[in-house]
Amino acid sequence: MKVNENFSKMPQSYLFAEVANRVKKYKEAHPDASIIRLGIGDVTLPLAPAVVQAAKRAADEMGAAETFRGYPPYEGWEFLIEAIRGYYASFGVMLNYGDIFVSDGAKSDAGDLPDIFSADNTVLVPDPVYPVYVDSNIMGGRRIIYARGCRENNFLPTPADIEGGEPDIIYICSPNNPTGAVMTREILKEWVDYANKLGAVIIFDAAYEAFISDPSLPRSIFEIPGARECAIEIGSLSKTAGFTGMRCGYTVIPEELERGGYSLNKLWMRRQSTKFNGVSYVVQRAAEAVFSPEGLLQCKKNIDYYRGNAKIIAETLDRLGIYYTGGKHSPYIWMQCPNGLGSWEFFDYLLENAGVVGTPGAGFGSAGEGYFRLTAFGSREDTAEAARRMEKLLSR
Ligand code: PLP
Repeated sequence: MKVNENFSKMPQSYLFAEVANRVKKYKEAHPDASIIRLGIGDVTLPLAPAVVQAAKRAADEMGAAETFRGYPPYEGWEFLIEAIRGYYASFGVMLNYGDIFVSDGAKSDAGDLPDIFSADNTVLVPDPVYPVYVDSNIMGGRRIIYARGCRENNFLPTPADIEGGEPDIIYICSPNNPTGAVMTREILKEWVDYANKLGAVIIFDAAYEAFISDPSLPRSIFEIPGARECAIEIGSLSKTAGFTGMRCGYTVIPEELERGGYSLNKLWMRRQSTKFNGVSYVVQRAAEAVFSPEGLLQCKKNIDYYRGNAKIIAETLDRLGIYYTGGKHSPYIWMQCPNGLGSWEFFDYLLENAGVVGTPGAGFGSAGEGYFRLTAFGSREDTAEAARRMEKLLSR
């Protein structure tokens, strides 16, 4: 018996454990200190009322013989697929019914999609990066190459920034975690053209699309001509509608997308019907309600609240003259550590002198060194107080 030795090639994921460890030590030494966490990647506002009502109605249906439902279709219930199609149509993207697969979230799909690709493929990820793209492909034995984000490209790498060869699979996340940077149509088109030229496949993570408020910025890769020939998109209701604890997302694989004579849509259906038994009826009904007129308005209210938090942090950094990306169409603010401090040095400095906790950028890849991620998912009061403390400390 042999274990999958690729696991030993994965970088240790010590980032959040090390953050917790340092905060714990600080608290032990300063039991009365008031600590504000701006490192939270989870939402904090409750579900929208329309979503809760839909979930309750669905639970009642499951308790009555006439309306009880068992296993869902592998691709998801029709009512939710149609609701997702309607949502995309609202910003001008027409999807086929058969393009859409309902899932239990974007993390599973981002990590599971490589199942349909050969282990020989080279995978391109941005640096800094959401670690799931890297780790899931290392588990599968694939080679990883990087496109470096930096101040010069505003953390929006283009194909010109690729180091280490030509990719077969390209992960793109916009609005980005951790940098909050959002791709313009022009940059995204460069990637689509590049993938089509090479025959590569783009996996586009749109988990934060709902934070985009400028209609000139693409919310879906399928707004870009040529994307149906090279792209898969993953979406999530986690940040759109506070579904981190409900678990629902979707993946869009255009029916005509083919590589090596195989339909990727059919391969994914084959993979899902083998390893995944669908999302519960109650959650799918709750997800459908997210896309109802009432649900959309209620969810937007919550997103506006987080946007307001992001604005407070961004304006503070503007006043301090600190370089950052994100904060406008994203719940993340990616700031340069002042005075040339390293990510962990700044983490300690901010914790010890302001009681504010963020996430060291170095934890998201080597290009994150010297940067720091703050999030807008806290309460308004905490965010405003943390911003005040940072301004006082850093304007000295
Ligand atoms: N993709 C990105 C870029 C994320 O930042 C996250 C969550 O933090 C996810 C996917 C996970 O989404 P889900 O909760 O739908 O699994």
